[in-house]
Amino acid sequence: MNPIEVYPARVLRLKAAPVERLNTEIRHLVEHMTEVMYQEEGVGLAAPQIGDSRQVIVVDVGEGPFSLINPEILESDSEEVSIEEGCLSLPDIHVHVHRPGAVRIRGLDADGKTVERTLEGMSARAVQHEIDHLRGVLIIDHASALQKTLLKKQLKRLRE
Ligand SMILES: [Zn+2]
Repeated sequence: MNPIEVYPARVLRLKAAPVERLNTEIRHLVEHMTEVMYQEEGVGLAAPQIGDSRQVIVVDVGEGPFSLINPEILESDSEEVSIEEGCLSLPDIHVHVHRPGAVRIRGLDADGKTVERTLEGMSARAVQHEIDHLRGVLIIDHASALQKTLLKKQLKRLRE
């Protein structure tokens, strides 16, 4: 069974709630999400994608997994880069997304410690994509008007 919530699942459009207590349950959630991410061959996963509307993300762009709880973007590079992105919740859909090339982020790790890091390249990209999920934002929302028109048919198929 596919554990991933797929568009147009309502949970993907909700604003995820901050985690208030970091306990064993959250650590299990992080472990579970990491497993699902690998199983589905994604480079990142946000909790709403498995139906849990809380602010938890996991990322592994090939440099080892890390998780962030209640992540926030503190600073973004003014220079934006456009890269084609996919999403496990939008099968077969690819969208060119403009995003800052580097970001400074803060969140909690699975032990409740505050983590602050500057990310660039693929990890910056993946973290921004996953933080979007926590705000109910999907890659299709970043599409240009032309691309949105081209995506219409594909999205209609997913809604049926
Ligand atoms: Zn996604």
